[in-house]
Amino acid sequence: MAEPEGMTRRDFLNGSLLASGAALVSTACPFQLMAADDWNGTPGIGDYADANGNTHQVMADGHTIRDHAFDRGAKTIEDTGETFDCVIVGGGISGLAAALFYQRATGAKRSCLVLENHPIFGGEAKRNEFNVDGQRLIASQGSAMWFQPMPGTFLEHFYDSVGIDSRQFQYQRDTSGIATGVTPYAGDGSNFGFFFAADAAHPNGTWLVDPWTKKLEGAPMAAQAKRELLAMRETPDHRPTPRRHGDAVARQLDSITLEEDLMMRHGLSRETIRHYLSPVSGGGSGIGADALSAYSDYAPDLLFPWEKQHGPQMFPGGNTGVARHMVKALVPAAIPGAATMAGICQARVNFAALDQPNQATRIRLRSR
Ligand SMILES: Cc1cc2nc3c(=O)[nH]c(=O)nc-3n(C[C@H](O)[C@H](O)[C@H](O)COP(=O)(O)OP(=O)(O)OC[C@H]3O[C@@H](n4cnc5c(N)ncnc54)[C@H](O)[C@@H]3O)c2cc1C
Repeated sequence: MAEPEGMTRRDFLNGSLLASGAALVSTACPFQLMAADDWNGTPGIGDYADANGNTHQVMADGHTIRDHAFDRGAKTIEDTGETFDCVIVGGGISGLAAALFYQRATGAKRSCLVLENHPIFGGEAKRNEFNVDGQRLIASQGSAMWFQPMPGTFLEHFYDSVGIDSRQFQYQRDTSGIATGVTPYAGDGSNFGFFFAADAAHPNGTWLVDPWTKKLEGAPMAAQAKRELLAMRETPDHRPTPRRHGDAVARQLDSITLEEDLMMRHGLSRETIRHYLSPVSGGGSGIGADALSAYSDYAPDLLFPWEKQHGPQMFPGGNTGVARHMVKALVPAAIPGAATMAGICQARVNFAALDQPNQATRIRLRSR
C-alpha cells in the first residue's frame, strides 16, 4: 500500500531547527555568571507558574548526580505511615498512563500513588501561561505535537478512553487575514519566525518572520549555511528510507550517526549542523545529532505509525492537553468542569484534589 503523502515527524523537526541553535551559540552571558532568577526566567501565571522548564534547580541537581551525592542515599527519609498497592515514580505521560492502566486493571479497587518531584504533573508535557496586555497566552514547553493515531489502533482506543477525540480538532476560522496553522511549526504557513540572539551587529537580536518564504533573507547567518539549509528544504530526498523496523535500510541507518545521515542525505556540512541545527528540535532529541543513531529519526514513524493525511495537531499548550486528559480520567475533580478539549485545557487545576485519602489514585507533587 502506498504511504499517504504528508508531513513526517522529521519534517517538523527540520522545520524548527534554527532559532534555538542560534541562540545557543551566541548567548551573551556565561552560564556561571547567571543568578538563579536570570536562569529561570519569567514564570508566567496560572497552574504552571512554578514550572518554567529548564530551571537552575535542574542544573544544580545534575551537579549533585555528577558528584555522587545521591549514591549515599537520602539525607532525610520521612515515614508517612502510608501503604499503597502500587507506587509509580514520575508523573509524566508514562507515569500517568501507567496509573490509568493500573486503575482500570484493578477496577479502582487497589490504591496507587504517583510521585512527581515537580510542582505540576506532565513531565516534558508542560506549558506556560502569560498575561500579555490582558490576553492570556499559552505556550508549550517540550512535548508539543500530537500525532493523530491510525484508525483501529491501540493508541486510538487509548485516546478515546481518556476523551481525546481522535478525529481532527476543531480550529477557529481565520478572520484576521493572518496566515494561521494548526501548529506553530514550519509547513503551516507564515505563522512563525526564527529568533537569532544578540550579537555585536544586532544588539537586540533579530526576528525573521516567515523565514522559509523569505529564503532566510535577513537572517544573520553565514551565506554557505543558508545555501545548505535552503537546499535541504527544496531538494527532494531520493535516498531510501526504512519501510520496516529492522529492514536493511534501518540497520544501515543504525550503524551511522544522525549527523552523518544529515550530511549524506542533505549535503549539510558538519559545521552547519553543529552551529544551526538545535540539539533539541533539530533532530538531536536533546543529545545532539552527533551522538544519536540515524535510525532514531525514523523509528517513531515506523514503530508508531500515524495518520499523516490529517497532519500533526496541537492542543493549546502542546501535549500538556494529553497529560491533563489523563489526570481528569484518573481524578475527575482535579480538573473541574466539562471533559471537553476546551474545558480540560482551560480549567484551573484543583491541586488539593490530586492527593486525597480514599481515592484509588493519588498524585503527589513536589515529592523529592
Ligand atoms: C524537547 C522535546 C520535545 C519533544 N516534542 C515532542 C512532541 O512534539 N510530540 C511528542 O509526541 N513527543 C515529544 N517529545 C517526546 C515526549 O516528550 C516524551 O516521549 C514524553 O513526554 C515522555 O514522557 P515520560 O513520562 O516518559 O517522561 P517525562 O516527561 O520526562 O516525565 C518523567 C517525570 O518523572 C519525574 N521524575 C523523574 N525522576 C523522579 C523521581 N525520582 N521522583 C519523582 N519524580 C521523578 C520527572 O520530573 C518528570 O516530571 C519531546 C521530547 C523532548 C525532550
